[in-house]
Amino acid sequence: MDDTFLGAWTLAEKAIKEECKIEGPQKLLECENWFDLKYITHEEPKTPDAPHIIKVSTSSGFSWKTLKERGYIDRITSRLKSATKLDNIELVPHYEQDELDFGLDARPILNNIKIDNTEPNPLPQRHFRANTTLYDEYTFDNFITSEGSSTDYAYKMALAVAAKPGDLANPILFYGGVGLGKTHLMNAIGNYIIQNATEPKKVCYTQSESFLNEFTSSLFQQKNASVFKNKYRRLDVLLLDDIQFLQGKEGIQQELFYIFEELYKNHKQMVFASDRPLSEIAQMEERLVSRLSGTCLDLQPPDFETRCAIIGKTLEAKDLVVPMEVIHSIAQKEASNVRALKGAVTKVIGYAQVMHTPITVQVVEKLLGKTGENVDNGRISILDIIEETAKLFKITSADLKAKKRDKTRALARQVAMFLGKELTDLTLTDIGRELGGRDHTTVMHGIDKITTEIISNPDLTNTLDAIRRAIKSKK
Ligand code: ADP
Ligand code: MG
Repeated sequence: MDDTFLGAWTLAEKAIKEECKIEGPQKLLECENWFDLKYITHEEPKTPDAPHIIKVSTSSGFSWKTLKERGYIDRITSRLKSATKLDNIELVPHYEQDELDFGLDARPILNNIKIDNTEPNPLPQRHFRANTTLYDEYTFDNFITSEGSSTDYAYKMALAVAAKPGDLANPILFYGGVGLGKTHLMNAIGNYIIQNATEPKKVCYTQSESFLNEFTSSLFQQKNASVFKNKYRRLDVLLLDDIQFLQGKEGIQQELFYIFEELYKNHKQMVFASDRPLSEIAQMEERLVSRLSGTCLDLQPPDFETRCAIIGKTLEAKDLVVPMEVIHSIAQKEASNVRALKGAVTKVIGYAQVMHTPITVQVVEKLLGKTGENVDNGRISILDIIEETAKLFKITSADLKAKKRDKTRALARQVAMFLGKELTDLTLTDIGRELGGRDHTTVMHGIDKITTEIISNPDLTNTLDAIRRAIKSKK
């Protein structure tokens, strides 16, 4: 039976490539670059109603979903069905790219979270004077998240707030490192409100630095002082970015407090962003901190699959199709923030255009360094640690990162956390992310456990030594 399936597979694959050729050079290019499915096995149905399972290998969860989205999975499945005369065939992927635990139900790619725009705005959009301080290219539509991540929660909350400004959560505060999408989401809220409101809304997005400058210059002119006050106290939506900038600046903090009270009383939506927790902003008035805190939305660095989706989207916007391995390779190099990731893609595209060369993994490595260099900023990569730890515990790297909590995996994971801290420059947040998206408190707890355990457990000390040796011998 397996031979039948393998034969059918080979024919189906060939036919699809032929079809793509007919559909045009762009489709052929896409097919050649992305179609990386390989037949592994066939499993007979377990019950009369169950399907025939065809296991296939593919390079990553991202690749599988891209192929699905582009219709390749349906195409090959239907060809297999007609070749074998069976109507119950299901393809099940196995990911070669041993990154994070992609589930089939996992994350959306290429922005498949769509805002429901089925009810068109009854009024022409030009009806309102869009506030010119909003960046109109930052929308919910082009913000990519992975289902279940804290960024995804922030995104969904932002969307919900934009749909019901002043009502659902007021104020909200985005918090997260640079380049993780705070400014993007704030502007998306503003743009959404302006586009969907049934009556004109006064929406203002501003950086704290401009806010301060505007305030300071108003102080010198009696007339302008009231202009400033009236402008901000009469807003419908205030989007104030980078409020860490206000630290130690008493005058503006006081003014913001009054604006806050006025807007809050009138149920006007406020959105703030800060690159650090408010508790870490020194010299910020307590009464302001307690008010601004509101609903805190934490933005985290994107995981591997989301990075691939962002790269894919950026390339798509430029009509470029590159091999899947190139997308993977860029995603492996820039892990810290989206701005850097987009910058890396732009750099690669620019180089290829100027040098008239195709975008290959070699080009990426030449421009961005070898895999892992940027991810861990150190000699030893967390990927090596994961690999060697998993090997010693006789599990796979995917097992080590998976959500399961049995003793062996939990211990292996804690060992990897401990060695991650010892041997790389990564932060606890970075380590947690690489180990299947765990937060930094889990990593801290894991490290503490191993630190305590090695005192009384010589076996564990030996295990750690063996892993250290294995990692170093690879270098
Ligand atoms: P922050 O304000 O947190 O420093 P920005 O909002 O300015 O970060 O984001 C930096 C860049 O990365 C912008 O070009 C933004 O559009 C992009 N970006 C950030 N997060 C995402 C995301 N999840 N999906 C798509 N683009 C993103
Ligand atoms: Mg910003």
